[in-house]
Parts: sequence; structure tokens; C-alpha cells
Amino acid sequence: MSAPVLVTGGAGYVGASAVRALAAAGRRVVVLDDLSTGTRAHLRWGTFVEGDAGDPALVGRVCREHGVGAVLHFAAKTSVEASVGDPDGYFRANVVTTSHLVRAARDAGVRAIVFSSSAAVYGTPRALPIPEDHPLEPESPYGATKAEAERVLAEGGVPAACLRYFNAAGAEPDAGLCERHDPETHLIPRALDAAARGSTLRVFGGDWPTADGTCVRDYVHVADLATAHLAALAHLERGGRGGAWNLGTGRGASVREVVGAVERATGRPVRVEVVPRRRGDPVALVADPRRAERDLGWRATARSTLDAIVADAFTGWRTVAAETAAAGGGPRP
Ligand code: UDP
Repeated sequence: MSAPVLVTGGAGYVGASAVRALAAAGRRVVVLDDLSTGTRAHLRWGTFVEGDAGDPALVGRVCREHGVGAVLHFAAKTSVEASVGDPDGYFRANVVTTSHLVRAARDAGVRAIVFSSSAAVYGTPRALPIPEDHPLEPESPYGATKAEAERVLAEGGVPAACLRYFNAAGAEPDAGLCERHDPETHLIPRALDAAARGSTLRVFGGDWPTADGTCVRDYVHVADLATAHLAALAHLERGGRGGAWNLGTGRGASVREVVGAVERATGRPVRVEVVPRRRGDPVALVADPRRAERDLGWRATARSTLDAIVADAFTGWRTVAAETAAAGGGPRP
């Protein structure tokens, strides 16, 4: 029987999907989450401990009590936009926490860490698609904290797989798992909001040097990200070396293409207003995902096509909207 896995941030968006995948694979799971941004309704599998992933005494105690052999570290602040206004908060949450966590886990005998990193570590790419050995030149405090946390992990004394997500998207509505950020800053849920409520989606920049003038991203389904974590864990547990792997599809979609997919999924038009560029946004991020396929045996599935992502995201969006209405809340921002 494989050792239990500690999942920090397991009540969050990607973390909860990974917990589901671990449980489905028969792994025992302990979720550590302070519920500052996580969702209690996502706590459906394993043992839950409420607390801070950056509290070394707590992490050490939980690892020893449960015989934890590996950690999946999701707990983090995740908004490029918010990081620009709060770089210190992002440094504490994403770098200092990771540093405390890795030392406590190492001292408690943990032998593998899988870390949620981000394509934001690259900054504006010199060419597309982006391979993992592209220079790390982050343009936002968020991206800088992920790059720094990768460095901390590389020196932490525990084999670590840093998974550089491109744009996590979609949902697993059959398990009640979907994106529930508050405030919501991400494109797909905002575009769904605009379609369903008839509000206006602000598009950050229409004069980028891309085919239609809007930014390009590589959207990857959250369920595919979850299976990548299992693949990275298996790699480390069979003695594979740590390192960094891109998680993306290798295909880019512009903001306008996403809007088109949202219109198809919802059957409604999205009213768009082009506003100035958002600080910290690189023009285009598209993964070269071949290293993950070669080393981890992972590649994105058909769930990561844009229409499939948006269809699942819309089902998830309706779940959240219905819950919000039932709780007497108004529309989300
Ligand atoms: N975006 C936009 N309007 C919004 C939110 C996002 O035009 O209300 C754009 C943003 O500039 C970026 C893309 O959509 O080019 C994806 O942004 P998101 O915040 O979803 O993810 P990020 O790439 O920042 O991680």
C-alpha cells in the first residue's frame, strides 16, 4: 500500500480535483487547507485538517501522525492581477510558506513533493511554444513568487516536481468541483458571467501583436491537471528525478476565441468592451508539453479542447449560481 499523501490547498480549485483523482486511484489523502480561499464543499475525500501549510509544527505533526510519504502543494495565492497590488502578501503566501513546508516535510520523512507552479514564471516568451528551459523572466509578482518557490524546492532536500500550469480551466461538475474564486479574476468564469447576466466583459487590450489583437493562452482542463499530479507523483515514487514540467496542450486560444466558445456553450452573445492592457499580462503563453509526455507519460486529453473546457465550466458556473441564489446572495462580481 502506498504511503498517504498530504495535499495542501486541497479545498481549492485544482487541489480538490487532484484529491479526487488520488482517492479514485486508491491513495489515502490528508487535506491541509486554511479555507481562506478554499471551499468546504470540496472536502469530499480523505481526512481534513484546517490550518496553515506554512506552519512547520503543524505540518510536521500531521505528516508524522498520518505517516505521510508525499506532499502535493497547492496552497497559494493565485491571481496575477491581485499580486501586482500585494507583492509582499504574495511572497509570504507563495515563497515563505513553501520554504517552511518543505523543511517540515523533509524532517518528517517525506520523500516526494509535487508543486503547483505556473507558466507565469516565463514572462513574455521569446518564441512559442515555450519549452521548460526557456529563461525565467516573470512579469508579475505572482510569477516571480512561483519561480522563487521552485528554487526553494530545488534546494529543499526532497525530490520535487514543479508542474508549470498554463491556464487551468474547466470544472468537474459531476463531483461538485468548479472554480469559485472571490473576487473572480479569470477570463472564462467572467465571460460566462457576462453571457448569463448580460453584463459586459472587459477585454484587457485589443492591440496586442496577435492574430486578433487579444492575448493568447493555453487552456488546460483541471481534470487533466489532476492526472498530471498523479503521474508526477508516480515518477518521483519510482525514483525519478525532480524538475519542472509544463502542463498545457500546445495550442493557444485568444481572448476573442474564448468569448466565441462561451457564446456557443451558453447560446448567448457576450458584450465586450476593450479596455487598456492589464499590468503583468504576457502577450501569449503556449506550452511545449513534450517533456511531460516523455518523462511522466502525461498529455492533455480531449477534455482540454476549448469547447469541452467551456462546456464543463458553464455547468460548474450554473451550480455555483444556483447555490448562491439558494443562499440568498446576489450575483457574483
Ligand atoms: N482577461 C480579460 N478580461 C478579464 C479577465 C482576463 O481580457 O476580465 C484576459 C487576460 O488579460 C489574459 C487572459 O484573459 O490575457 C487570461 O486571463 P486569466 O486571468 O484568466 O488567466 P492568466 O493568464 O492571467 O493566468
